[in-house]
Amino acid sequence: MADDTGVSFALSEEQNLLRDEVRRFAREQIRPGVAERDRAHEFPAEILREMGELGLLGMLVPEEYDGAGFDVLTYALAIEEIAAVCPAVAVTMSVTNSVCCWPIAKFGSHELKNRVLRQLARGEAIGGFGLTEPGSGSDAGAMRTSAVRDGDHWMLNGEKAWITNAGHGKFFVVLARTEPGEGTRGISAIVVPSDAPGFAVGTPEEKLGLKASSTAPLYFTDCRVPAGNLLAEEGHGFRVAMATLDHSRLGIAAQAVGIHRRALELAVEYARERVQFGVPIARHQAIQFKVAQMATELEAARALTYAAAVAEHRPEAGRLASQAKLYASEAANRACWQALQIHGGNGFCEDYEIARLYRDVRVTTIYEGTSEMQRMVIARHLTRSK
Ligand SMILES: Cc1cc2nc3c(=O)[nH]c(=O)nc-3n(C[C@H](O)[C@H](O)[C@H](O)COP(=O)(O)OP(=O)(O)OC[C@H]3O[C@@H](n4cnc5c(N)ncnc54)[C@H](O)[C@@H]3O)c2cc1C
Repeated sequence: MADDTGVSFALSEEQNLLRDEVRRFAREQIRPGVAERDRAHEFPAEILREMGELGLLGMLVPEEYDGAGFDVLTYALAIEEIAAVCPAVAVTMSVTNSVCCWPIAKFGSHELKNRVLRQLARGEAIGGFGLTEPGSGSDAGAMRTSAVRDGDHWMLNGEKAWITNAGHGKFFVVLARTEPGEGTRGISAIVVPSDAPGFAVGTPEEKLGLKASSTAPLYFTDCRVPAGNLLAEEGHGFRVAMATLDHSRLGIAAQAVGIHRRALELAVEYARERVQFGVPIARHQAIQFKVAQMATELEAARALTYAAAVAEHRPEAGRLASQAKLYASEAANRACWQALQIHGGNGFCEDYEIARLYRDVRVTTIYEGTSEMQRMVIARHLTRSK
């Protein structure tokens, strides 16, 4: 596949091998029990441990810090494979790779990388990212969590909401205000270990979907962490957060592509088998049109995701990642809606996989920036003065 700017999406032998290996792992190790874990809200700790051993939690970390050192396209391929089987495992994986390991690798000191990043990259620890607060979601600059310097430590006070991997993560990249005031200035990014004094996890959220992933608030009460846990410079945290999200949205785009692909597979399988009016419903044109639309949008979403991935080091990478996340998440939601429609009443029943995907896909247009925020980011890139 190539676009008119000459970008080639031809996968290398290494990328093909990795994708096949992850696909096999997802089908053999993750698929068994996926519905039961969803029903029981069970975090798949053992699966995550195995993924860590395979290097899937430190995919973007350089090899010198025990990571796999993959490029972003290879990472997107892996997320798609995992999401096609279990979107809840995919988000756990994506958060550890994209919003915890990535900013530490990019903005952390050598000492911090030795102390923290190696554990994450080796799969010995799961990571998270604390940006959202009860009063600041899309308007992240309105955050109130504070961090003040106290000798060789930072002391944090405040609360973060909706934190993926809370209760299971060992390290969280937390954004906190280090200078009083409003807006995006005076915010710093600090790595907070879950065993720091004054760190606490709240009651897990009762979510609509992704029930086998963990989401809960974090509380900091005079929470002390070493001064060396700062990422970049003091006061540059908002830049760290935005750079991280610019990059990580690609993981959510890939997650949406994986869910979309599986919804299409399920719809086609069901339409071939279900007979109404004397023929499989796949023979009715109304069903065929739905399938054709889903398949076309899947290819478009995947192409945009790959285009964003291969632009990794170009100035337009952030805009393309937002475009990929916006399009892929909305297309996947449409696809799950249509796939459930094709299942008729059975689609409304938890015995059918499409019911779980329909619930899981919903959040892809919300987290790591809502669709509305993506449109604002894209428009800002396009209209700002040169
Ligand atoms: C399952 C799950 C996991 C999550 N994991 C994490 C995590 O690990 N770490 C983390 O920090 N956060 C996490 N989040 C939080 C997530 O990023 C936020 O929910 C998201 O950014 C939206 O913020 P909000 O929910 O406060 O919605 P709000 O910001 O209150 O928005 C509500 C609605 O208003 C719209 N809106 C807001 N402002 C504008 C505007 N200016 N113009 C037009 N429309 C606007 C929004 O698009 C949305 O439709 C998670 C959320 C969920 C549901």
